[in-house]
Amino acid sequence: MLKTKNGKTLAALAALAILAAAAALISVLTDRRTADPGREVRVYLDGTLYATEHLGAPHELTVRGQNGEVNVIALDEEGVWMKSSTCHNQLCVHQGKVTYENYASRYYGTDIICLPNRVTVELVLRDGEQDPDAPDV
Ligand SMILES: [Zn+2]
Repeated sequence: MLKTKNGKTLAALAALAILAAAAALISVLTDRRTADPGREVRVYLDGTLYATEHLGAPHELTVRGQNGEVNVIALDEEGVWMKSSTCHNQLCVHQGKVTYENYASRYYGTDIICLPNRVTVELVLRDGEQDPDAPDV
């Protein structure tokens, strides 16, 4: 009796494992098809992920804070920049455009930071671009 029960349990576990593996594989394939992870931009508000955008055809994302703050983030196929902001110092606007070509020489690296409005824009690096200090090859 015990042997039979164990056999059934093992079969059930094996079936679950196969299902989990299939689900993981589908998830990976779907991600690859819909998003090139190397051309991704993540926007954070108050330290929480607000939106994920992708470089490509020129478009904009408007981030609205809880106290009426508005940041307009622009993207194109090369990079991302803060187009406008309601913050008092406009430092984020002056940080300019982040691209895969220039991030290593920027003060904030892959980020555009608006401290007054608590907005952070991050250009996500591709594999092999993790280290800003790595020499050009
Ligand atoms: Zn700002």
